[in-house]
Amino acid sequence: MLNIGCHLSSSKGFTHMGEQALSINANTFQFFTRNPRGSKAKDIDDNDVKGLLKIMDENNFAPILGHAPYTLNPGSANQRTREFALEVLKADLVRMEYLPNNLYNFHPGSHVGQGIEKGIELISEALNLILTADQTTMVLIETMSGKGSEIGSTFEEIKEIIKKVKLDDKIGVCLDTCHIYDAGYDIVNDLEGVLNEFERIIGLDKLCAIHLNDSKYPLASHKDRHEKIGEGTIGLKALTDIINHPKLRHLPFFLETPNELPGYAQEIQLLRDASDNSEYFSR
Ligand code: FE
Ligand code: FE
Ligand code: ZN
Repeated sequence: MLNIGCHLSSSKGFTHMGEQALSINANTFQFFTRNPRGSKAKDIDDNDVKGLLKIMDENNFAPILGHAPYTLNPGSANQRTREFALEVLKADLVRMEYLPNNLYNFHPGSHVGQGIEKGIELISEALNLILTADQTTMVLIETMSGKGSEIGSTFEEIKEIIKKVKLDDKIGVCLDTCHIYDAGYDIVNDLEGVLNEFERIIGLDKLCAIHLNDSKYPLASHKDRHEKIGEGTIGLKALTDIINHPKLRHLPFFLETPNELPGYAQEIQLLRDASDNSEYFSR
């Protein structure tokens, strides 16, 4: 069975997201843990969480993915900016434990002039301060497109971060197809080569989730503009090869394409039809 879902709005709570996922034939989803700009998170409502856990349990859900606010920068030169990132990441990880054994994804950040090495050091330092031995949540570093001074647009940079983390069994990677294509990894003409490189540098055992997006811009454009599935420069064929690849097809796939719910429902159907994991999700 293909494990697929999309980004959903968390404004109406966890149970509501579970219901929305079911309504579009998804068996996982992604959500922002709080307002994407990083403001205060709503208090957790136990019954709301229980409602979602029940839906996930009864409908064979794959792990769901909490996404940190994208404005956080744990690699910033500014101490106050780093402290803020740390506070939010820490608090989010506490909240994620209400939904045990799921995934939490963050953007590694930007070094804004102080150099990649320094940025990498600060990011791993932050991870060493927030990870705990007893947490059940896997923390995922997202592969980035390399716009501005973004860290994490090469597999080497991500490996460097992981290498410096003590509790590295709590750390994984979320591969964003739009981002790595924009970063210069040619998943259209050489998916095998890209996966071999990932295996050689990071290790495919670290890959825990895929953001499945088409891209508006060409290879190595460093733009990070997502496009609907099949309407961008990556195209349906390459994205289908990804969901069906023997080394990837067990992973949860998350759409972050420019769509409302009906558009996501269509893309999920399209990809389920194109999946050769053909034992369809059934309710
Ligand atoms: Fe992201
Ligand atoms: Fe993404
Ligand atoms: Zn993006």
